[in-house]
Amino acid sequence: MARHTAIPGPLGKRPLWHWRLWLLPLLTLVTSLLPRIVDCIVAGALLILLAPLLLLRALVAKLRAGRVFAATEKVGRFQVPFRQLAFADDAPARDLAVLLNVLWGDMAFAGPRPLSPEEAAAVPASQSIRFRLRPGIFSPYTLRSRIGIAYEGEGELDREFYYTETAAGNLGLMLRTGVGGLVAGDAIRPAPDQLEFFGVAIANTTMSEAIDWIVRRVREDRPATIAFVNPDCLNIAYGNPEYREVLGKVERVLPDGIGIRFGCRILGTSLRANVNGTDMFPRLCERCAHENLSLFLLGARPGVARQAAENMLQRYPNLKIAGSCDGYFAPDAENEIIETINRSGADILLVAFGVPKQELWLWKHRSRLKPRVAMGVGGLFDFYSGRIPRAPLWLREIGLEWGWRLLQEPGRMWRRYIIGNPLFLYRVWRQKIGKLTL
Ligand code: UDP
Repeated sequence: MARHTAIPGPLGKRPLWHWRLWLLPLLTLVTSLLPRIVDCIVAGALLILLAPLLLLRALVAKLRAGRVFAATEKVGRFQVPFRQLAFADDAPARDLAVLLNVLWGDMAFAGPRPLSPEEAAAVPASQSIRFRLRPGIFSPYTLRSRIGIAYEGEGELDREFYYTETAAGNLGLMLRTGVGGLVAGDAIRPAPDQLEFFGVAIANTTMSEAIDWIVRRVREDRPATIAFVNPDCLNIAYGNPEYREVLGKVERVLPDGIGIRFGCRILGTSLRANVNGTDMFPRLCERCAHENLSLFLLGARPGVARQAAENMLQRYPNLKIAGSCDGYFAPDAENEIIETINRSGADILLVAFGVPKQELWLWKHRSRLKPRVAMGVGGLFDFYSGRIPRAPLWLREIGLEWGWRLLQEPGRMWRRYIIGNPLFLYRVWRQKIGKLTL
């Protein structure tokens, strides 16, 4: 017969005052309060340190606006309303006065974005987890949406934050917001539906809309070619009329990268999202798996497209990859490759030959290619095959993915980034003042 060991109760044999008994509850309490304690200490210290400045700000506000604070109604933790403070004379969303909200406990340094009562009422029940946290001065959604990569949407980012928040992570978030702010800028500018650089019209859209658009074109049996353009592509287009003409004819051109955002700043407009092929690919695969649409991957070095396909199949087992082929075939093999693509029955064709080769190729053969949507995707298969590692998320959040690529392949990339980026911005400025000749 098995011997039963006695399971000690919560008190065991120890007397109630024994320290060992209280250690765990005490540690639990302290660790759960730690973020709040840190917030109080930091906010308190900042308020003391900045007291002269804050008093001056208060005085200026009083003189200019007749009162010190302006308060905006927000919905806080547990959906309890609170008033977010700002100095009355100039009340932007983020202001030092908000430190008082942190000290008071309405807000934290890092947390979900503070919502207005209307916004809070519209939060679906599935996202209500955000209300378990204090709204933050710094939020993951604000950080990523400002740089145009908040593809998952606010609810999903808040949920992720809830489960993964750490003190070090919060510090990182604040630092990235600071650096990212310098890169992206905080000003609110109009976001027209279409942007234009060097005569190339670019759709100013979001990732989910762009993917919806692709699926719709396939479903409606309306052929479309898509091109992604970054500053390097636009520089090439500037000097290559053939490529520029193709960009003018394809059904959709999508904005790729932080450089376009900078260009928009110069033109006084704002970019809705960084809709680049590399971020689109996994999301497109997920959607295709769901919608039962198939992909053909053409391009990159031998074996790379196949490896990328295999990696995606692991991630999305329902995905249909109709076929793959490398991008270094002899010119006389072209017909056979087009035949292979058509026979595969693929709905969507991704071509990675580099810019502008892929766009020119797609345009030349568009009437012969059966997949309803075709797009040029550059070095994408190199990333997803694992051949070239992609920049870590924190670098992308501060708009420095290009710096990563430069370090990886300095010999090939220096011209593109060190010369190309400033040249692009110079040309955008010329366009703005009406002096760019095409
Ligand atoms: N490539 C190809 N055939 C060619 C030339 C290039 O398949 O004749 C591939 C190359 O292997 C790489 C991609 O095209 O995978 C272009 O990569 P790049 O990094 O230049 O793309 P981008 O930076 O423009 O996205």
